[in-house]
Amino acid sequence: MRNRGVLVVVSGFSGAGKGTLMNELLSKYDNYALSVSATTRSPRPGEVDGREYFFKTKEEFQSMIDNNEFLEYACYVENNYGTPKDYVEKQLEEGKDVLLEIEIQGALKVKQMTDDAVLIFILPPSAEELKRRLTGRGTETPDVIDARLKRANEEAEGIEKYDYVLVNDNLDESAAALHKLIQSSHCSTFRNIELINNIREGVKRFSEGE
Ligand code: ADP
Ligand code: 5GP
Repeated sequence: MRNRGVLVVVSGFSGAGKGTLMNELLSKYDNYALSVSATTRSPRPGEVDGREYFFKTKEEFQSMIDNNEFLEYACYVENNYGTPKDYVEKQLEEGKDVLLEIEIQGALKVKQMTDDAVLIFILPPSAEELKRRLTGRGTETPDVIDARLKRANEEAEGIEKYDYVLVNDNLDESAAALHKLIQSSHCSTFRNIELINNIREGVKRFSEGE
């Protein structure tokens, strides 16, 4: 049986390119599952319910909270976002590396909840490029862009709480670096206790003259 997958928490300022990087990982490499969150924000043009998000009313979102359906949830610039937990657990059990693209409050809740998660913060090459990307995406009004840049300034305070940072400069190279980073987590000692114990026992038997 495959080992349990790695829970990968990816955060970063709005416009840093998290969504683009996730799509790149999913299209280029096997063994990833992207968790689809629920949100109360409205769909952007081209977004499909159940693909980018499960789009919910405030009442529907609240009833998901009441039914304990979320691994974590948080409020971000006046909307609620949450990770449905059943899907995540099932995919991890099947050995998939599960990608959670979530903001910092949710990321820190996941970190508190389990030692098993790897937290990665995606940085833009520069603050200027961040603003260019966020504006260039053309999906938010100037007011919302300002609110998201303000929020980025707050989020910047928490970056050291993550395990790794990764700069999203050239997309191809950044996706490859992210993939390597995630795959190296499979080699951590605590994810390989069974393997370590097997070898330990074998070596012990030899040392006892078997
Ligand atoms: P986020 O999910 O972090 O809010 P997006 O993935 O929507 O960000 O990316 C924001 C904008 O930046 C999009 O228009 C996207 O095409 C662009 N973008 C993302 N990654 C790169 C990159 N490596 N180089 C140049 N543009 C990028
Ligand atoms: P956007 O509106 O740009 O799609 O997402 C806004 C922010 O919400 C991003 O930082 C994104 O990572 C975060 N987000 C998306 N889904 C979730 C979730 O399930 N939980 C939390 N805590 N944040 C989320």
